[in-house]
Amino acid sequence: MRQIFLLILLFIVGQWLVKALRRAEASRTARTGAGDDAGANARTGTRTSGQANGTNGGASGKSPAQLAEPMIRCVECGVHAPKSESVLVAGQTFCSHDHAKRYAARPTGRDAR
Ligand SMILES: [Zn+2]
Repeated sequence: MRQIFLLILLFIVGQWLVKALRRAEASRTARTGAGDDAGANARTGTRTSGQANGTNGGASGKSPAQLAEPMIRCVECGVHAPKSESVLVAGQTFCSHDHAKRYAARPTGRDAR
C-alpha cells in the first residue's frame, strides 16, 4: 500500500518540476511582451506595483482589459485612475473635473489661467 503513495508522490513531484520548468521558460519569453505594461505602470507610480505582482502567476492569457488600459495620476490628489475616466486639462491629468477646477483655481499653480 505504501508503494502507491510513493508513486503518487513521485507523480506529483514530477508534474511540479515540469510546471516549474515551463514557468521559467514562459517568464523568459513573456518578458518582452509584459515589459511594456510593467514599464507603463512603473512610470505612473508605485501604487500599481501590487497589480503587477498579482499577475506573476499567469502572465499570459487571463489578463483583463483593465490591465491594458494605461493608468494616469491625478495632479491634484495623486490618485491613479484609468485613462478613459481621467480628465485632461492644459496638459495635466486629473481624476475628475472637480479636481481639474480646483487645481486651476489654486493661486500657487503656475499654469493657472
Ligand atoms: Zn484627483
